[in-house]
Amino acid sequence: MLRRTFLAALPLAAQTPGLTIAPAAPFPGSPILFKLPSGPTTATWLDRPLAFSADGVALAAVGLEVKPGPLKLTLASGETHTVPIARHQYRSGIITVPPQFVTPPPQVQKRIKEEAAVKKEVFATRSPRRWKGPFAAPADTPQTSPFGTRRTYNGKTRSIHQGLDFRAAIGTPITATHAGKVLLAREMYYEGGFVVLDHGEGLFSLYMHLSKFEVKEGDTVEQRQPLALSGGSGRVTGPHLHFGVQWQGLYMEPATLLRLRFPV
Ligand SMILES: [Zn+2]
Repeated sequence: MLRRTFLAALPLAAQTPGLTIAPAAPFPGSPILFKLPSGPTTATWLDRPLAFSADGVALAAVGLEVKPGPLKLTLASGETHTVPIARHQYRSGIITVPPQFVTPPPQVQKRIKEEAAVKKEVFATRSPRRWKGPFAAPADTPQTSPFGTRRTYNGKTRSIHQGLDFRAAIGTPITATHAGKVLLAREMYYEGGFVVLDHGEGLFSLYMHLSKFEVKEGDTVEQRQPLALSGGSGRVTGPHLHFGVQWQGLYMEPATLLRLRFPV
């Protein structure tokens, strides 16, 4: 803890005049908000392009696989800035789901493969930024299962929970975390009723296990606009909302994103 506090207090300004970051101590899996005195400009973060808006704001993720220690932000000007990544402890858990979601029957293999191809194409979309300012919770209910938990499904499949779960009895209104374009609003095998919003620059929000869609693919939505009603479809132990946020292939911890204060 002491070390993390120390890292958080490091004067970034000493190496980077005017650059601030939030959270103060980013960690593997966290979002990371960069603020320069002004923009627009571009940078490179984790070998990915990062765009700063005219007011100098850029949002990215610190991948879950990133090791604690220094990471480099390289600005288009050639300036490089070191960002210390703090340690973070995620929990483990055991989940029991219907067996067909751990060992899918042969007749759904083709469907799973086709859906994987659709998701790959959707997440390759790159469009201009559609959001500005803080992100909103997708449901007005308590958060249950956190991001990053190492899960064992039925004593077999191991995976990492790449989103945040919200308690949601079937029929709970689910709303857009920010302005975006609806890229997916359809049923999928694992996700159940599934909505994906494109917020631009490779930032996507994902809403799973829905029961009724209130948007269709191609729609544009405003922040807090109703997307769907929650449900219990797909690979679930019971009804809830799974909310995920991905930046250029890296999932980020939604709870920290929803708490970020956006400097403008
Ligand atoms: Zn979940």
